[in-house]
Amino acid sequence: MVASNGDISSFLKSHGLTGTAIRKQVLSHLWGDGVALTQKEIEEKLPPATDRVTLYRTLRLFTEKGVVHKIVLDGETQKFKIAGRFRKSDHAHFYCTKCHKLLCMPQLDVDLTDLPEGFQFSSARLVVEGICDACSGKK
Ligand SMILES: [Zn+2]
Ligand SMILES: [Zn+2]
Repeated sequence: MVASNGDISSFLKSHGLTGTAIRKQVLSHLWGDGVALTQKEIEEKLPPATDRVTLYRTLRLFTEKGVVHKIVLDGETQKFKIAGRFRKSDHAHFYCTKCHKLLCMPQLDVDLTDLPEGFQFSSARLVVEGICDACSGKK
């Protein structure tokens, strides 16, 4: 899916952000369902002159504003994906091991109120791995 400049600008605006050049560039690479990239992968797609600190700040801002979800796949891999209709990232995600798509799966809800007495929830990172509908031939 290719996003137009207008799509990206209005998406940023709907999250209370102005469309600076770097914000638009970053978002254009994350546009599309199932697209998820690490900071390094995003960096490689941007013009070589892009400042790394600016990219880091942009991704941090995007995460705070709910523009993207930061999804921890394992201790070393954090991927960013566009948040779409889900503002918060406290839901499960599905990772397709075949096509490497990463999808929001809020329907796979873990009951976090079900903790034993004395335990307090602060954050959850549930990533389910498997094969998506397109790869399993069901779609
Ligand atoms: Zn797949
Ligand atoms: Zn999500």
